[in-house]
Amino acid sequence: RAEDRPLLYLNGVSVSFDGFRAINNLSLYLERGEMRAIIGPNGAGKTTMMDIITGKTRPDSGEVFFDGTIDLTQHDEPAIATFGIGRKFQKPTVFESHTVEDNLLMALQGSRGVLGQLFYRLNRDDAAKISEILETTRLSARRSDLAANLSHGQKQWLEIGMLLAQNPKLLLVDEPVAGMTDAETEETARLLKEIAQDHSVIVVEHDMHFVRELGVKVSCLHEGSVLSEGSLDHVSKDPRVIEVYLGR
Ligand code: ADP
Repeated sequence: RAEDRPLLYLNGVSVSFDGFRAINNLSLYLERGEMRAIIGPNGAGKTTMMDIITGKTRPDSGEVFFDGTIDLTQHDEPAIATFGIGRKFQKPTVFESHTVEDNLLMALQGSRGVLGQLFYRLNRDDAAKISEILETTRLSARRSDLAANLSHGQKQWLEIGMLLAQNPKLLLVDEPVAGMTDAETEETARLLKEIAQDHSVIVVEHDMHFVRELGVKVSCLHEGSVLSEGSLDHVSKDPRVIEVYLGR
């Protein structure tokens, strides 16, 4: 049954750019409701892996299945977005000249497609959903402020909120705490743990203090495949991991 299979299943995936194997026989399984941290040195293939999941890059070989039966290698980026995979890039891309609340409303409307937008009315369910997202993202008190006036960390949270407004099953989050203060970083760990209670999440992150705060299973990528996997304690003591981080 589809619901017994992992939410995301990458098996033996490879992709080359001009003969260079950026992803090399990569396998990774994400359970439903799991949050996973992806670490690895620069050039390990983390971004390319995310590009494969979202359909931005098509693998040369291997299997990529979502939600049991959806073969992601057979779909393009816009289609995959409608399957419930939301991605947040490192740099926040909120609409600065709109309020926090309007940013969330636009994300909610955008997820409905053209027809949905045409017949769109803000109903009570939507208003409740927006309020809930504002609370999750620590932005309730800022709902009427322009996004331009938020701190860098709050803009990152708003963008996570915009993903949530689109009802994703899987959130892909790229370096969420880059450029954040220590307090914002700690708050982001709490926030993502709350979100992970009813979503699956993949977080790519360099900040090991933050990864420790998340307290989830870690996959360390190197040269396009998984070098080590397990708790951060396990992975960070793995001699092969120490070698790639220190031995270069
Ligand atoms: P990471 O995100 O872990 O830093 P990337 O996935 O960005 O790693 O890159 C993995 C490797 O693939 C790097 O050596 C990078 O230079 C190469 N690469 C990524 N995208 C392309 C591309 N479009 N064309 C050529 N090489 C690429």
